[in-house]
Amino acid sequence: KEGDVGLKTVFREINVSTKKRTSLIDITGDVEGIVEISEIGQGFCLVQSLHSTTAIVVNEHEGGLMEDIVRKVQKEFPKGMGWLHDRVDDNADAHLASTFLGSSKVFAVKDGRILRGTWQNIFLLEFDGPRSRNVIVEVLGE
Ligand code: ZN
Repeated sequence: KEGDVGLKTVFREINVSTKKRTSLIDITGDVEGIVEISEIGQGFCLVQSLHSTTAIVVNEHEGGLMEDIVRKVQKEFPKGMGWLHDRVDDNADAHLASTFLGSSKVFAVKDGRILRGTWQNIFLLEFDGPRSRNVIVEVLGE
């Protein structure tokens, strides 16, 4: 009908149990699995964490680099700097890291797959674990 652009959406949630206070959890396989079952060929894929002390980041799954990212986060957002929010629940550093790194990413979907570089994996970046975390994935397209 007129105005119907024929878009479809598929929505799923990924649950992740994080093991350390600061860590990267590779969720590439989960996200790609959702895009695959969506049967959407062309469109977009939103990956969004539902928490104020995590981020979604994209980079290479290499142990040294993953540890470098953890160290950089701890250097840039140190704990116990007299942050005012620490008077509430002692995790201001985690909120700050999440604020500046961002809680979502959008990927292009083409020919039924996420477009990403060979060394671009998708990670949930945990700043205040260990915890149970929920990441939503919404695929929109046709
Ligand atoms: Zn807090």
